[in-house]
Amino acid sequence: MAINYRSKTEIEGIRRAGQVVMEILEELRAATKPGVTTGELDALAARELARRGATSNFRGYSPAKGTPPFTGVICASVNDEVVHGIPGKRVLKEGDIIALDFGAIVDGWHGDSAITVPVGHVSAVAQRLLQVTHDALWKGIAAAQAGARVYDITRAVQTYVEGEGFALVEHYGGHGIGRELHEDPFIPNAMEQGIPNPLLRPGMVVCIEPMVSVSTPRTRTLGDKWTVSTRDGSLSAHFEHTVAITAGEPLVLTSLVGASASH
Ligand code: MG
Ligand code: MG
Repeated sequence: MAINYRSKTEIEGIRRAGQVVMEILEELRAATKPGVTTGELDALAARELARRGATSNFRGYSPAKGTPPFTGVICASVNDEVVHGIPGKRVLKEGDIIALDFGAIVDGWHGDSAITVPVGHVSAVAQRLLQVTHDALWKGIAAAQAGARVYDITRAVQTYVEGEGFALVEHYGGHGIGRELHEDPFIPNAMEQGIPNPLLRPGMVVCIEPMVSVSTPRTRTLGDKWTVSTRDGSLSAHFEHTVAITAGEPLVLTSLVGASASH
């Protein structure tokens, strides 16, 4: 496994990409309303990327042979969809929840973040799912300390989510990031056998991204070869930040400058 360790200057480059990601994610949050289509949100994000001279690390992405290139600049995953929903004609309606996963490339550096947003008023269980998934991300970030290991992040997220009575989606997780969208190490959301467990060292930049469902760790991939849904149709949420490991506290690179340094 080749892990990249970034200098302070390089981490600043990733932060600039992260800043663009968060500015646009906030615009997407504000535009998320009943009656809007996921394709309209995607078009908004594409316009805002272009306006900033940034490019998409999602559009055209193909992880493996046989998977068609991704067509959106955002992943839009509604309700029981966990991740990788393809934006299109789907119309959002009151009570939906939508995971907006979004990335950008600025000067060759990649940023990646995700939020899950309520559409109008949502059920009590949906509200709790969003809160627990958001808080799980911050448990993972708090565990991303130099001298700890990848599994410490996994354990912090999983212990919290399962203690709240929800399920962590299995076989997905976070990743290193920098010159590529997906670099080593893989950071499993739920513990599984056979995944490397490297030390976290200053200069590593990783995406932490818990995906939580109300009732099942199991998923299925739809016929479009991208959209991942919960196996039992239960609601799912996803939050993500790009984080640098430092000699001190972890540094969230996908945060808005001027915004609170924490939540
Ligand atoms: Mg992402
Ligand atoms: Mg990611």
